[in-house]
Amino acid sequence: MILIGAHMPTTNGIDKVPQETVRIGGNAFQVFGHNPRTWRAQIPSQSKVKSFKEQMVKHKFLSSSAFCHSGYLMNLASPKDDMWEKSIQLLITEMKICLSLGIKFLNIHPGSHLNSGETQGISRIAKAIDLALEKVSEVILLLENVSPKGANIGYKFSQIKDILDNVSEPRRIGITYDTCHGFDAGYDITSMEGVRKLLDEIENNVGLEKLKMIHLNDSKAPLGKALDRHENIGRGFIGDKGFSVFLSFEEIQKIPWILETPGSNEEHAQDIRHVKEILGMM
Ligand code: ZN
Ligand code: ZN
Ligand code: ZN
Repeated sequence: MILIGAHMPTTNGIDKVPQETVRIGGNAFQVFGHNPRTWRAQIPSQSKVKSFKEQMVKHKFLSSSAFCHSGYLMNLASPKDDMWEKSIQLLITEMKICLSLGIKFLNIHPGSHLNSGETQGISRIAKAIDLALEKVSEVILLLENVSPKGANIGYKFSQIKDILDNVSEPRRIGITYDTCHGFDAGYDITSMEGVRKLLDEIENNVGLEKLKMIHLNDSKAPLGKALDRHENIGRGFIGDKGFSVFLSFEEIQKIPWILETPGSNEEHAQDIRHVKEILGMM
């Protein structure tokens, strides 16, 4: 069985997300644990948590198919102490939100070194992760591959390996592969050889067992052009043909696919239908 879903809005309450996911044809989802554009984050009330957990059971969601995505302001690689400390505090709160909701995975962007250098940035990220993991149990952090824009760290798997090599509890870290960001970074998943090369790179650097989620996005930009512009499935440079290649791999089929494509629930419903059509054509 394929696990598929989308990044879901929580405007009507996080406890509405499981049902809304089913309505759009999904059986997996991702949410923000708080408004991602602010530093404010708080643990949901007991009644919300109860209602959310009831809905998860009612709609038969697996804990491995529900994900939180961290806020945009967080930068665990920041060379500025105040920003770095604030980021760690936010990460800890976000992990507590996940823990309270029973969501096992928190997806984070590794960070931007802001021209302080990659080595320095990676050591800041690893230290920040250690401090946060010490404070909150159980939650697994997923490092997402990012677009190679600015001073971003984590657009290739050797960088993610360097982070893992420097944390105390690498068993509490997994990874997410974002197809748009990967395409930006030159991973051509539109050919069998390209996907094989990607999977080998993941296996050789961090191990394929660490791959817990796919962010399934087409790309408005051509291969290697780092614009980070997500596109609806089939309408971008990866295209139907590209996805039919990528999604045919068993290693990809056994983990959840989460859409972060333009639009909201209705467009995502359309994207989910479209992905299922692509699978039907295989
Ligand atoms: Zn992301
Ligand atoms: Zn993503
Ligand atoms: Zn993106």
